[in-house]
Amino acid sequence: MLFDYHMHSNFSADSETPMEEMIQASINKGLTEISFTEHIDYEYPDPTISFDLDIPAYTEELNKMREKYKDIITIKKGVELGVQPYLLERYDKLMNEEDFDFVICSIHTADKKDLHSGDFFANRTPEESYQLYYEELLYCVKNFKQYNILGHIDLVKRYKSLNSKADFHDILSEIFKVIIPDGKGIELNASGYAYGLGGPMPTKDILELYKDCGGEVLTIGSDAHVPHHVGYNFTEIIESIKSIGFKYITTFDQMKPSFHPINKLNKTQNSNEI
Ligand SMILES: [Zn+2]
Ligand SMILES: [Zn+2]
Repeated sequence: MLFDYHMHSNFSADSETPMEEMIQASINKGLTEISFTEHIDYEYPDPTISFDLDIPAYTEELNKMREKYKDIITIKKGVELGVQPYLLERYDKLMNEEDFDFVICSIHTADKKDLHSGDFFANRTPEESYQLYYEELLYCVKNFKQYNILGHIDLVKRYKSLNSKADFHDILSEIFKVIIPDGKGIELNASGYAYGLGGPMPTKDILELYKDCGGEVLTIGSDAHVPHHVGYNFTEIIESIKSIGFKYITTFDQMKPSFHPINKLNKTQNSNEI
């Protein structure tokens, strides 16, 4: 058993990889179950890119692939919602109309400004940026419930380092105290390696905080947009999760969780290749 619960294909605006190539890479890595998590980011501030998702076309291709590879790998229909406080009603409406196995709730845009372009970080200190990012996330988890896990919860670190040793554990605890009783979780997102953070997101201190708050729902995802990032460094990630004391990795079917003992997970093939 080995799962990658965060990957994109060319149904996401920022990936050009056909779904089938991501599936073949997953099989080559020794994965037994994956979830595509294509982007939907309403009102993304960069006008040159649109993170809408053609859900009927996505569903059709996914069903085709599921049938073709059904004896080799389990493929789930997921989505990554780029939430913002003022968009939550629209996302609620979408979720009431559509069926997904797995939903990641992510913040890519705060204060209506793009993190990726750096606009969000202009005219405020790194500390103010982190605080505002987590405040918006806190607002979203209090007011939106139709998701399973929070994506790359400390994404701000990818774009801006702090001048101080501030850890934002107070506001992160507040977030965890909302999501844990709701039955939601967080992910270990391996793209931190690819983006030079030297490890997955979130960092270990946040993972320990989540555990201390009683968090148990945990997924592992590569956030791969290209085949060679699929399952990246999962062996190391699983070891670090174990060392913190987590006992299970979670998968989802129709938004319902299943818990798999970490001890029963396989190691990835060629796990250190990138
Ligand atoms: Zn994301
Ligand atoms: Zn993603």
